[in-house]
Amino acid sequence: LIPLEEARARVLRPCRPLPPVTQRLDAALGCVLAETVISEQAIPPFANTAMDGYAVHAADTKEVPARLRVVGTLAAGTAWEQPVERGAALRIMTGAPFPAGADSVVMVEHTRAEGDEVVVLEPALPGDHVRPAGEDIAAGQEVFGAGTVLGPGHLGVLASIGRESVTTIPRARVGVLSTGDELIVGAGALTPGQIRDSNRPTLLGLLEGSGCYPIDLGVVPDDEATLRQALDWGLFDCDALLTSGGVSMGEFDYVKKVLDDLGEVEWMQVAIKPAKPLAFGLIAGKPVFGLPGNPVSSMVSFELFARPALRQMMGFGPDALDRPRVRATVEDDSLRRRPDGKVHFARVVCRYADGRYRVRSSGGQASNLLRAMALANGLAVLPDGDGAAEGEDVDVMLLS
Ligand code: AMP
Ligand code: MG
Repeated sequence: LIPLEEARARVLRPCRPLPPVTQRLDAALGCVLAETVISEQAIPPFANTAMDGYAVHAADTKEVPARLRVVGTLAAGTAWEQPVERGAALRIMTGAPFPAGADSVVMVEHTRAEGDEVVVLEPALPGDHVRPAGEDIAAGQEVFGAGTVLGPGHLGVLASIGRESVTTIPRARVGVLSTGDELIVGAGALTPGQIRDSNRPTLLGLLEGSGCYPIDLGVVPDDEATLRQALDWGLFDCDALLTSGGVSMGEFDYVKKVLDDLGEVEWMQVAIKPAKPLAFGLIAGKPVFGLPGNPVSSMVSFELFARPALRQMMGFGPDALDRPRVRATVEDDSLRRRPDGKVHFARVVCRYADGRYRVRSSGGQASNLLRAMALANGLAVLPDGDGAAEGEDVDVMLLS
């Protein structure tokens, strides 16, 4: 058995970031920026009003009520050519360019319209409700640095400075292959001994949720030649591969043998439960993860090894590889365990109530009980020992 941290280090080491690509803005959500973005223009591009109201000279409103002549109305999207003179007011809508001459905006709520005049009820100060040009971004300013993870707000900023494309580390294209003679796909009747493939849809979903581009490579039987062909094909098209099944001690567990023949693959027994067996290596320079077949094990192995490695390939920094962890108080006696030399990852429901996170088991903890995993929103980390009693605190990896 090797410690989790060592297995992780072995997996993460060779998973280097993919070469950058330039892509349309609308495809870049969640990707890591691979350029320094400089804005050529100021944002806002021109001074404008933050309120619906009247552009005025503040000095004309020192004594209120103050009666001013309304010289026109300016909507957002147009400009006002003549300067606003002393004693005058320009009716102006939020976002409209602030006119020359005036120095402040009186919000419409502080005025009363009377024919072609306006009565200002509250004095204005110079600068009131005026948004200066460049207040958010100055022309020539660095907006975002390489390494920034592009969220919705980042895409908005990039659009606002006129960018239609951006250079990022691409999503990793990751192929998913299920192995096992017992597996069938879909709703057909099961002959004795058959089960339906559940790992593939699960792993494809986990990839999608991790910012990768999932590629379905189907199911292959426990047959060396077919397996070899499927891996070959997958490696041609993908940046990395996930297989599930066939990495245990069974007689027909061919995955580790075939992976071994194709490249530099390590077969590890990690001191964790579930997800003890893991085959990992590079084939044709591309990472291949031989995840265990038991449905919960394949998910936990994905979370602990594949997900951080794939995110590293997508340019995420060391602090953004793993799921966030919180400290949570155990609500009952469901997180007891026995010492066995392994770290346990218990499927839990974690919630925030009365000022703290609270956690309890989501159901049975055997590695085939996928429903309890599906119902869980976290994995409680239980170091070797007796687990946690009611009222004790544990670390929880939040899965959603
Ligand atoms: P293996 O590692 O191939 O021995 O598989 C371990 C257990 O996981 C066995 O009970 C398999 O039937 C089950 N299993 C393997 N692959 C899948 C899959 N794709 N979907 C559901 N169960 C699977
Ligand atoms: Mg199998």
